[in-house]
Amino acid sequence: MKSGCVSREVKKQRSIQLPVLKNPPVQESGIRKSRTSRWRAAALITLNLLMIAHIIQWRIMGTTISPIEPSETMHTLQKGAINAGFIFFALAILATLILGRFVCGWGCHILALQDFCAAMLKKVGLTPKAFRSRLLIYVPLIGALYMFVWPTVYRAFFSPEPGPLIPTFTNHLVTSSFWETFPSVAVAIPFLFICGFMTVYFLGSKGFCTYACPYGGFFMLADKLSPGKIRVTDACNQCGHCTATCTSNVLVHAEVKQYGMVIDPGCMKCMDCISVCPNDALYFGFGKPTVAIPKSNAIKRSYSLTWPEEIVGVIVFVGSFLAIWDVYQLVPMLMALGWATITTFLALRTWRLLRTKELSFYRFNLKSSGLIRKAGWGFLSLAVVWIGLNAHSGWVRYHEYEGNRAFQKIQIPDELALAQVNPDPWLSPIDRENIVAGRNHFQATADLGLFVNTEALPKLAWFEYLSGDAEQSVQSLEQAAARQQGQAKALSLYYRGTILNRLGRYEQARTSLDQALAERPDLILAREEKGESLWQLGRKEEAISVWSDAVLRNERLVLANNQLAGAAFSMGRSEEAIALEKRADQFTPDDPFYHWMIGLRLQNLGMNNLAEKHFQRAIELDPGFEARRTGRPQ
Ligand code: SF4
Ligand code: SF4
Repeated sequence: MKSGCVSREVKKQRSIQLPVLKNPPVQESGIRKSRTSRWRAAALITLNLLMIAHIIQWRIMGTTISPIEPSETMHTLQKGAINAGFIFFALAILATLILGRFVCGWGCHILALQDFCAAMLKKVGLTPKAFRSRLLIYVPLIGALYMFVWPTVYRAFFSPEPGPLIPTFTNHLVTSSFWETFPSVAVAIPFLFICGFMTVYFLGSKGFCTYACPYGGFFMLADKLSPGKIRVTDACNQCGHCTATCTSNVLVHAEVKQYGMVIDPGCMKCMDCISVCPNDALYFGFGKPTVAIPKSNAIKRSYSLTWPEEIVGVIVFVGSFLAIWDVYQLVPMLMALGWATITTFLALRTWRLLRTKELSFYRFNLKSSGLIRKAGWGFLSLAVVWIGLNAHSGWVRYHEYEGNRAFQKIQIPDELALAQVNPDPWLSPIDRENIVAGRNHFQATADLGLFVNTEALPKLAWFEYLSGDAEQSVQSLEQAAARQQGQAKALSLYYRGTILNRLGRYEQARTSLDQALAERPDLILAREEKGESLWQLGRKEEAISVWSDAVLRNERLVLANNQLAGAAFSMGRSEEAIALEKRADQFTPDDPFYHWMIGLRLQNLGMNNLAEKHFQRAIELDPGFEARRTGRPQ
């Protein structure tokens, strides 16, 4: 008896009994139909229905259990937020350590999608063919390490502000922001099409699991340690039905012959091989794990790529992934991984199409006798469009990256830049350089990009404002706010309102600031600005009320206390004004820039005496500020 094999008697004691049909149907190929595939389909359909029910319950009730999605584990590892996704992932890895990759085969919605797509393709006579690469197989593990290990390593050893290795844990099992970490529906649809249909069509039935799924990276490792395996008895006659049926591209007959069990970590324990075996030679049982198998025993496998192709494939994959990931702030990592595998496949096939005399794909003859056929031209067209789109995304991504870099390097504080309509006198040479570079980069993506990057647009607006183009900046912020939600929208509207105040368009400013506060009532800066709009519109009591409200929320607000003091002075309420001024001074940082900024803001409101006090203090702290008086608005 081979290592890992057990007799039929032992099998009876240790195997898990599967539900069986009395007369299993036989397909045209002579291979039995799997009896377990229906059970698995039922499990996966139930899973999808439960997911839909979860979303509906959240939409109706407003709060729900946090997403049961492995990616949520990142928040646990980085911020200590214990959520349902983390618990699910931890339990799934634990279960895989014992039983093997059952969770993948019976409990993953992306796998369900791939199975559905494979079934659809089969209906039109296209049986997905497995793409076999030696190197790309490591993508899931690298993805998993990047998602779940690298953030902790970075925080502990490389971050400029190192944090603890283990964060402080907090309870995030219930949430009202269920969709916060998910892509929008507009992104989810192409995501499902690419990661489901396209990966299956080009890379095989489990194309996404094999070459892109980062969770699979950890499940594969756990599977290697698990004692639960598909095992064989001596009834096997090497007919190969199991291998022909396996949609995970496992050489079942060869592995059970060599090792007495299936050791390929791609096995998702779907049980189809057990079900179709005409000799009932396979069973699920416990015994030696894969790691106990000597490496010298490895089965020789055939691959889809030559070694040079493998190396080119890795380069194409990395380039494609970096080009597409997060482009337009839209493409999530998993989608980028799926996209990059398809780019790699198309690039390598195109290369082969151009180099070889004969090439086919599925039943399509792409090239014969050195001539590219109709289907070949169709394939080439698809490849050119796909790779061209990828290259364009890379170009956009480059400009976004450089634009963001320039944005990070801007030194002028926002409050100071916003204190007067033209911040030019306050810009350092480094600022000027980065403003020109950043504006050009973001403008290029805005002009020639295929989608609007809602995070880049407010940054472009900021560069426009710093360049002295306040009108254009107001327009860009309006466009950004129209596409944003929540905090991001509130900030765009706040900046727009602030710039409108500086431009003297107070009614428009007030409307914009009201909209910002409707999104985020806790945005105190917007209250200070709204008070300014109202004051300039002559609605002084309302302005005082808004500033008072801001101070009630935070009594340390220097500007709002000063604004209230200025208002009290202007109304002859000196005692109250002095008390407010005192409170403001108590919290004012003794920084010349800060004093100058407060001076400018008070001067805008006509509160000149108070303003002068801050200008003088700035000059006392730094006599160089005297020369800046020329930069003050008149
Ligand atoms: S395990 Fe069963 S299906 Fe697979 S080769 Fe052996 S007899 Fe055939
Ligand atoms: S080896 Fe068997 S159980 Fe594993 S994935 Fe293939 S058919 Fe399913």
